[in-house]
Amino acid sequence: MAAQEEIRANWGLVGHAWVVDALARSLVADRVAHAYLFTGPHAIGKTTLARALAQALLCLAENRPCGECQACRKIARDRHPDVQVIEGVPIGFKPDENSLPPPRANDWERRILKIDQIRAIQHNVSLAPFEGRWQVIILRRFEEANEEAANAFLKTLEEPPRHTRLILTARDASLLLPTISSRCQIFALRPLTPAQVETALIERWGVEPAQARLLAHVSGGRLGWAVRAHANPALMESRRRHLATLNDALNEGRAERLSRAVELAKTPDELLEMLDLWLGWWRDVLLIQTPTGDGARVTNVDHTDALRAHAAQFSVAQVHRALKAIRETSRYLTQNINARLALQVLLLNLPGLGS
Ligand SMILES: [Zn+2]
Repeated sequence: MAAQEEIRANWGLVGHAWVVDALARSLVADRVAHAYLFTGPHAIGKTTLARALAQALLCLAENRPCGECQACRKIARDRHPDVQVIEGVPIGFKPDENSLPPPRANDWERRILKIDQIRAIQHNVSLAPFEGRWQVIILRRFEEANEEAANAFLKTLEEPPRHTRLILTARDASLLLPTISSRCQIFALRPLTPAQVETALIERWGVEPAQARLLAHVSGGRLGWAVRAHANPALMESRRRHLATLNDALNEGRAERLSRAVELAKTPDELLEMLDLWLGWWRDVLLIQTPTGDGARVTNVDHTDALRAHAAQFSVAQVHRALKAIRETSRYLTQNINARLALQVLLLNLPGLGS
C-alpha cells in the first residue's frame, strides 16, 4: 500500500488516482497501449496527465516518472525533442507562419486542428526518437480536428510506428469519429471534489484559504481552471459579468430581452463560456430546490442568497425549462446556427422576475 502511494506521488497529479494506478501498472508490465484518449471537461487535468505519462515513458531514473531527471524536466517545460504537444489553431491562423498561436482567450474559444499539423506529425513519427525509447505525441482537444485532419490521422492510428505513443485528449469521446476513439484506450477523467481542489490550491500554490475555497467551488472540480483563475483575475471578472447578465435578463420584459440577445450575439467568442456559467447557475438552483439535493455541491457559493431566492421564486419546471433551453442553445452555437436567433429564443425561455 505504501509503495502504491509512493508511485502515485511520483506522478505528481492531484486526484485521478485510479487512472494513475492503471497507467503505472501497464508500465510495470510493459503493456503500454499505442494510443490513449483522456476525456473530461476543460481544465480538469487531461494534458497534465498526458505529460506525466510522457515522463513515465521517457524518464531516465529507476522509479519512473521521477520528475527530476533531465528527461522529466524537459517534458515539464515542453522542451523534450521526443515529445510534441499539438493543438488546434485559431480560425484564420496560418500554422506555416512559424509562430506559435496566441493563448486561448477562454476555455470555449473555437480552434481547428488542421491537416497540415497532422502531416507534420506524420513526418516526425517516420523518424526515430532523438533521445529516448519513444516518441510521444500529445494531441490536445482532438474534437477540434476537422474531418480532413481526423481522416489523415486515422492512418497513423491504424499503423502506428513501433516507437511512437499517441495521447489524445478530448472533452468527450462521442465528439470524435468512432474509428478514432475505438482505437484508443480511453480514460474518462472526473472532476475533483471541492476539498481536493481547495487543499491543492493552499498547499501547492499557496492560495489564501478563503480564496481557495471560493475557487475550488466555482471551478466545479477543474483544478486547472482554479489555478488559472488564481493567477488571472480576469477569469473571475468575466464570470461575474456573465452571471450579472443572466440576473439582469431575468428582470427584463420581452422587448428588452430581444434587444439584449442582439447585443450578446456581437461577442460570439464569449457565448459558450457564458452559457456554461448559466447552466451552472440553474443547476445550483435545482440542487437547492430538490429536497434530497446535496447543498454541498453548489458551485456558486458566493451567491447563495440569490440562488435561494431563485429557488423559492421559480418552479422546478421553470428551472428544468431554462436548463434545457441553455443546453440546446450551446448545441446550436457549436453548430454555427444564427446566434442572435438562438439567443432570442433562449432569453424568452428563461423565467421572469419582472412585470
Ligand atoms: Zn525522470
